[in-house]
Amino acid sequence: MEIEEDEERRRQRKLEEALEVKSLRRIISAYLNYPEAAEEDVRRYEKSFKKLPPAHKALLPHYPSKFQNLRRCISLNSYFIFTMLQAFEPPLDMSQDVDGCKDPYLENFEHGHCHSEERNASSCQSASTSGRMCCSNHAEACSQEKSNIMSNPTTEEVKSEQQHEPIFGSGAGEVENNNEIAECCSNDVADSNGNAFSSPHDWLDPSLQLNVPLVDVDKVRCIIRNIVRDWAAEGEKERNQCYKPILEELDAQFPNRSKESPPACLVPGAGLGRLALEISCLGFISQGNEFSYYMMICSSFILNHTETTGQWTIYPWIHSNCNSLSDNDQLRPVSVPDIHPASAGITEGFSMCGGDFVEVYNDSSQIGKVTGASYSMYISTSCFVADNDPLGVWDAVVTCFFIDTAHNIIEYIEIISRILKEGGVWINFGPLLYHFADMYGQEDDMSIELSLEDVKKIAFHYGFELEKEQTIETTYTTNPRSMMQNHYHAAFWTMRKKRTTTT
Ligand code: SAH
Repeated sequence: MEIEEDEERRRQRKLEEALEVKSLRRIISAYLNYPEAAEEDVRRYEKSFKKLPPAHKALLPHYPSKFQNLRRCISLNSYFIFTMLQAFEPPLDMSQDVDGCKDPYLENFEHGHCHSEERNASSCQSASTSGRMCCSNHAEACSQEKSNIMSNPTTEEVKSEQQHEPIFGSGAGEVENNNEIAECCSNDVADSNGNAFSSPHDWLDPSLQLNVPLVDVDKVRCIIRNIVRDWAAEGEKERNQCYKPILEELDAQFPNRSKESPPACLVPGAGLGRLALEISCLGFISQGNEFSYYMMICSSFILNHTETTGQWTIYPWIHSNCNSLSDNDQLRPVSVPDIHPASAGITEGFSMCGGDFVEVYNDSSQIGKVTGASYSMYISTSCFVADNDPLGVWDAVVTCFFIDTAHNIIEYIEIISRILKEGGVWINFGPLLYHFADMYGQEDDMSIELSLEDVKKIAFHYGFELEKEQTIETTYTTNPRSMMQNHYHAAFWTMRKKRTTTT
């Protein structure tokens, strides 16, 4: 009987891994498809231009050179993407044969968090309106030699088979600076199959590249905009709107935090990791949690493989001709990152946990334990264990543009309450743009879309008391120079988990 169960579990695990490999291949393919999809756009612009009557064409003599400039920017973005992929160490055996392995879970995993982008994909403004959505609606450490601040996980850290493993850094190959790239790579950093690069990774072999729908490539464009939000000087205004109030609130809530025993803070839906890093630098044991490989491949690269501030130059705004004030605006370069993560002053124990928030933190072993839960992407030597403590372990949970990613927001709130210590705080910032709203057609999908009033009622039910509440206006991955700027009136609150015991 037991043997049968073991066999069943083994089979299940194998299936899950195969699905994950398939999903990861598709995401890698989306990244690899970026140059070709972008080139296709430029060809489209050229075609329209060619259709102009000669008199009209003559009024736009600079257009052919704009197209060439767009191609140069695409090449440089592609170079960044490909270098990022080369630095990526897949946590799974990518060589396994997963063809023919079909499972609805996969579809869910791949599309679930991106539906809203799809919703907007046809609109010209998808770039700015849906940026937050596309990359999942809205992913450390002690500094080591070079800038690699991620570590491989220990076996103890690998706990749940269902979680998505993190991407472990291995020390990127030497990276030329962008000036050299511009000189040597002009227009052919990578062709549509990524052929121009030689890669040591079999899984980057063009023959394994899948044809992915354009909507997947759109997610890559969203990631590029997320890089600006988290890791560029241009994103500072947006970070000041979203992250600064959170950081100030954490600072005020934990005024006497000690270096010897820093408070622990969890950031579910950590995106590209800047907020989790800032929280670490503020003197917290900070753990980001993120389930999108799109995000994790990128955050891992920036956090672990950056050698200098401004090492990379990307062109985030080239993909939309709409609402542009000038070609120069559209083609402007953005340097990333604006800080060197390994020198930012992180607190020991910074980690990134890959996996679905519900699966990872619903695990009952989370209660009474902070063990880096699953896979610690980053060095996290100071996991503390409090086996006898029946209560949650986190002093703070910070959610920024996260709670509306839930199928069932009540479940998120319940888990947040459970994993928090008594007296711990939940700081939330964001709108209620439910990711799975309008997700019709898929029978298994559910989407509970509560009003703010109901969200608060649910939180009170799970033992929270509202301490502060405010509305803050903000953008999300918006091009600051675009003529169209979408603003959220984000809910910002601090809730405290009531104590049930008297001390
Ligand atoms: N906090 C970041 C990212 C917000 S977007 C910021 O403010 O920029 C929401 C993020 O949550 C996405 O990166 C998405 O991939 C992630 N996410 C969505 N559902 C998740 C889940 N169930 N578990 C973990 N991460 C999730």
